[in-house]
Amino acid sequence: MTQPTIFVVEDEASFVDALQIGLSREGFHVEVATDGAEALERFDEVDPDLVLLDVMLPRVSGVDVCRRIRQTSAVPIIMVTAKSSEIDTVVGLEVGADDYVTKPYRLRELVARIRAQLRRTAMDSTGELERPADSAIRVGEVSLDVDEHRVTVGDEELSLPLKEFEVLHLLLANAGRVLTRETLIDRVWGSDYVGDTKTLDVHIKRLRSKIEIDPGSPTRIVTIRGLGYKYERS
Ligand code: CA
Repeated sequence: MTQPTIFVVEDEASFVDALQIGLSREGFHVEVATDGAEALERFDEVDPDLVLLDVMLPRVSGVDVCRRIRQTSAVPIIMVTAKSSEIDTVVGLEVGADDYVTKPYRLRELVARIRAQLRRTAMDSTGELERPADSAIRVGEVSLDVDEHRVTVGDEELSLPLKEFEVLHLLLANAGRVLTRETLIDRVWGSDYVGDTKTLDVHIKRLRSKIEIDPGSPTRIVTIRGLGYKYERS
């Protein structure tokens, strides 16, 4: 099996060293750029399977690098922020990243996220939000069939109102990937939606009461603070 290439774009030497050692040990091939301009110059040559992109970079910012890459490539991009408050800003800019981590992160968590993104792209080579041609999706115990408008959890069949069904469909189809509140609202209620943004939370709460083992501590539909929601791959 060939090693996936991770393009680490990071200007702090201590992080670069740790990532080179840690990711190599996990079986990845690591290429490094230490500023945004270098990242863009070398992107085609490196031809990465995933980009790990620091937000605060010399010369060209991580946000601009992400936007530029997105003009030509659907490669998975995980953005790295120094503070969790930066995540809100970056997400608000809708730069097109697939996931976000905050420094300091644990290597184990980072590797799990990298693998999740690589699995996703292995199945969805376009990198776009997935709308599978196959009408049935199954993630762990939960399955959903669009044509039959049917959701089952284990052996139990659920009856879901349309919007709850659509929210769940989008989450399941993109399992393992963080969907921002804006994306979910856009896709389910339409980009011209002017209602209360709490509507989404209400739908998530209802969904959790139906599909979670313990709705008080959800393990399927998880909240990514300041960002949105993610359906956990099981
Ligand atoms: Ca930096």
